[in-house]
Amino acid sequence: MKQLIACMLIAGAGTAMANVPLKIYKGDNRSDTVYSEKHYLVGVTSPDAKATVNGTPVHVYKTGSFGAEINLKKGENLIPVHLSCKKEKKDTTVRVFLAERKKSAAAPVETKTLEAPLFITTLPGAYFQYGNGGDRLGGSKMNFIDADINLTAVGETDYLYKVQLSQNNFAYIPKEYTKEGGEGASVVNTGSASISNTGKSDRITLALPCRLPYWNRAEIDPQTIKVSVYGATNNTNWLTQRNDLGIIDFVDLQQNESDVLTLYIRLKDNYQWGYSIDYQGNNLVIDVRHRPTSLNIKDLTIGLDAGHGGKYPGAWSPSGLSEKEVNLDIILNVAKMLRDMGANVVLTRDGDTGPSMAERKEIWRKAGVDIALSVHNNSSGNPLKKMGTSSYYKHINNRAFAEALHKSMLSLGLENFGLTGNFNFSLNGPTEYPNALIEVLFMSSLPEEELLADPEYRKTLASKIVEGLLNYLKEADSNR
Ligand SMILES: [Zn+2]
Repeated sequence: MKQLIACMLIAGAGTAMANVPLKIYKGDNRSDTVYSEKHYLVGVTSPDAKATVNGTPVHVYKTGSFGAEINLKKGENLIPVHLSCKKEKKDTTVRVFLAERKKSAAAPVETKTLEAPLFITTLPGAYFQYGNGGDRLGGSKMNFIDADINLTAVGETDYLYKVQLSQNNFAYIPKEYTKEGGEGASVVNTGSASISNTGKSDRITLALPCRLPYWNRAEIDPQTIKVSVYGATNNTNWLTQRNDLGIIDFVDLQQNESDVLTLYIRLKDNYQWGYSIDYQGNNLVIDVRHRPTSLNIKDLTIGLDAGHGGKYPGAWSPSGLSEKEVNLDIILNVAKMLRDMGANVVLTRDGDTGPSMAERKEIWRKAGVDIALSVHNNSSGNPLKKMGTSSYYKHINNRAFAEALHKSMLSLGLENFGLTGNFNFSLNGPTEYPNALIEVLFMSSLPEEELLADPEYRKTLASKIVEGLLNYLKEADSNR
C-alpha cells in the first residue's frame, strides 16, 4: 500500500524549505473543459494538513484526501486552494473552464441485412447475446453454447452476426467465435430422451440428428430450468422418469412453436446448485447438480475471486490505493477465515497476477466449486459522500445468494447502493455453480477510501462477506 506523506521540511541548498504536499487528483482541467455546473475538486495532501477550498474549510481524511463541491459559472473559474500544515502554507489556484454541452454524436449500431444467408459454425467459447448493443460489460449475454453448431446468419454488424434460430427467434453471436461453412440451421425431429442419476447430478440426454442451438435460463418459485432447442420438433414419444433422481422432480417437453422445443425441468429443491449443457456427439446433455450432501462450510469448495490484478489495476483512489490491491487483501482475509473453518478454498489469484475472465472461470469450473464469489470495489459518483455497498447476480436463481451477502454488508451500517440483477458481469455468467459479485465500497468516495485504506476495516469487511456466505448456506440448509 502507498505510504502517506507527512508535512515535512526538506533541506535544500543550505536553507530549510517548507513543503506542504499537494496533488490535485480530480477537477483540475488545465487541458480540458467541463460541461456540468456541479463540479468536484479532489486533492491529496498530508493527513495532518488543514485545507480550504474556495474560501471554505474542508475535511482532510486520514488518507490525506480532501474535496469540495463547487458551482461553476460559465467560462473560466479560478478556485483557490489553501493548505496549512504546522507553520507552513501552500496556496494554489485551480482553473476550470465550463462550456456548453455538445450534442452527443454517437450513432446507434446498425445491423445490415446480408444479401444471401451465410452458413456458419460455432467455435469453442461461443455465446449468444440478445441484441447488437454493447457497453463496458459487452452486449447482454443469453448463454454460452457448444462448438460445432450449424447456424444461418441473416445480418451483421462489424463484430457480430445476427443468426436466425427458428422462424421467429433471432440472436447475435460474435464473429470471432464462428467460422464460415456448415449446412446452416435446420429443423429436425428429436430422438429418444432419458433421465438418469449420475451420483452428483441428474442427467437429461436428448438424442438429435445434429447439434442444434439452445437457450437456457432459470426460474425460481418453483425452481425450474428451461432449455429451448431451436430447430427441434418433438418426436420424443416418451420420457421415463424413475424415482431415484437427486434433484429433478420432473421434465416436461413443450413444443412452444413448430420449430422450438423447450425442456421444462422442475426441481424438487428450493435452491439451485448449478447445471451445465453440452453436446456429447449429437446428444444434448443437461447435467443438473444435486444439492451438496452437506452444507457445512468444512465440506464445501468455495471459489473466491479478487478483481483485476497484474497490469490491470482497476480503479484508483485519490490517495493512490489501487483497487486490485484492496480487492486482493479483502479476498485473502476471506480465504483465511474460510480455511480456518475447514473449507476448501479455490482462489483465481493469490498475488499480483491478472488472469483473464475465461481463465478465472476455468479455475473454478475445473475445481468443481460448490459456490463462488467475486470481490471488486466501485468508482464514480459524488467523491464527497459515502456511496455504499452493492451486490450483483445475473441469473435469478443466484438472487438469494447475492441478497444474503448484501444484507450482511449492510449490517455494518454502510450506505445501500443496491442489489442488482441481470448483471452482465463475466463471472456471473456461469450456470455450473451459484455465484455473486460484491462491489464492496467506492474507491472514489473520500470517506469510503479512508475505510478501505484501513487494514483492520478490510478484515471487518471480509468477516461480513464470510457471514453473508454462511447465512446463505444456513438458510438453504433449513429450506430444502
Ligand atoms: Zn473492479
